[in-house]
Amino acid sequence: MASVTEQTSAETNGGAAAATIGVENPATGEIITTVPVLGADELQQMAARAREAQPGWEAMGFEGRGKVLKRAQKWMTDNTERILEVVMSEAGKTYEDAQLADYGYTVAALGFWAKEAQGYLADEHVPSWNNPVVAGKKLIIRYAPVGVVGVIGPWNYPITNSFGDCIPALAAGNSVILKPSEVTPLSSLLMEEMLKECGIPENVFQVATGDGSTGAALVDNVDCIMFTGSTKTGQAVMKAAADRVIPCYLELGGKDPMIVCADANLDRAANAAAYYSMNNGGQVCISVERAYVEEPVYDKFVQKVTENVKQLRQGKPGAAGSVDIGAVTFPPQIDVVEDHVRDAVDKGAKVLTGGHRREGDGRFYEPTVLVDVDHSMKIMTDETFGPTLPIMKVRDAEEALRLANDTNYGLAASVWTRDTARGEALARRVEAGAVCVNDAQVNYAALNLPMGGWKASGLGTRHGAGGIRKYTRVQSLLVTRLAPKRDVHMFPYKKRTTRMLQRFYNFLYGRGKRD
Ligand code: NDP
Repeated sequence: MASVTEQTSAETNGGAAAATIGVENPATGEIITTVPVLGADELQQMAARAREAQPGWEAMGFEGRGKVLKRAQKWMTDNTERILEVVMSEAGKTYEDAQLADYGYTVAALGFWAKEAQGYLADEHVPSWNNPVVAGKKLIIRYAPVGVVGVIGPWNYPITNSFGDCIPALAAGNSVILKPSEVTPLSSLLMEEMLKECGIPENVFQVATGDGSTGAALVDNVDCIMFTGSTKTGQAVMKAAADRVIPCYLELGGKDPMIVCADANLDRAANAAAYYSMNNGGQVCISVERAYVEEPVYDKFVQKVTENVKQLRQGKPGAAGSVDIGAVTFPPQIDVVEDHVRDAVDKGAKVLTGGHRREGDGRFYEPTVLVDVDHSMKIMTDETFGPTLPIMKVRDAEEALRLANDTNYGLAASVWTRDTARGEALARRVEAGAVCVNDAQVNYAALNLPMGGWKASGLGTRHGAGGIRKYTRVQSLLVTRLAPKRDVHMFPYKKRTTRMLQRFYNFLYGRGKRD
């Protein structure tokens, strides 16, 4: 489904009408500009250029590539207001949401990968004593760049979840083609401009604007795909990657539960519930999508959260500190939010605040708190991805755990208790790739901590060693230095040697007591 005005431009491109997408400001409804929809032929050409440019980039080494990334880090601090303006205008998000996640994450990530890439990808020497056949040989694990990496991103964090995944791919020595969401392409184009100004060789980083067909064409032309988006599209990407037998990493949706124990610091838990369910307009994969609260503190928690949410200011994002909640970025998403709230109310839920689409310019949904919810309702089982918080009363943490795990998703979760040892024990029983105790969402900022989904929430991780090694091909090197003319296992086979070898195996592995 087209998210913004899609049209056929009057301009022609080599005789053929060029399709373009209008980029809308979701907070005002204005069309900011248009970008081209690149097709299969263009993607093929981009990939060919990327492939040609890659060896030179790889040859620059970690230090040379790191210099470009560090320059980009400085560029971001020199151009902060411009970056924030672009993100705010195409995503309709607040100044603070753009600053903390899109800007703050990326400016840190550029420095992190510039510094850490070499350590994560340095050759590893492994011992050779675990099997006599290779004893004494030099064994090396090498991480070679995969070649051309394709990154496909969603619209909720136009820089972090798109360009953010390109940084480790570039640091590893790959060329990268980024396909941003059709709704938010301008931030990625700005990042392309940034890297050019910072001296990245031509065609090492390219942005392919377009729609779903552009994303599909990208998968057809690259050596590795990193996808962030919905589970449904992720499955299609994985199928296409399977046809080409290329590695495919998926960061998908979530239905992130919050478990509040009776001994939690209730003020902190309530403030965090309001913030992490509503920040970025609730359009966060690792958000608080649903809360389970132990009976003794349920009423107090609900009261605190509701008071907090009622005070939130929503409107057209402007200067720092002007509004708390921005717009709904993706047009069809507001229908999903509306549908989930209506479905819950029809089945007996009570809306304590919000519950409606806002009238007037732009696309806004009121910050909404619901109670009397259960798992017959979509709002408790399907990803809502909007400014909503359904809160459910539970007998105890055991019931909360059972309900938290009653989902196909497994992206993120949080547990709130003053007993951090118990909190950690509960966290280990949640089926999710990232679980915070007395916190939420900030795990994403820990660039050395892997982040990835379990179950239908994804495959592979970003951040840490796995977050950069996934953009490489592992090569094993075995080097034999001093050696006889013929090893004992080589032809011709002789009964005596074979028996001797068996005695050796028995000596090595057959002695000692076993259970
Ligand atoms: P979509 O799955 O709709 O789209 C994601 C990207 O895939 C877009 O760039 C889209 O292009 C592109 N695309 C669409 N069809 C294809 C195709 N057949 N082949 C290749 N690419 C294609 O997700 P949304 O943009 O709606 O993003 C919201 C989702 O992202 C939510 O489910 C959210 O949970 C998830 N998400 C997950 C995160 C994580 O880290 N796990 C982080 C952030 C979001 P176009 O937009 O032009 O159609």
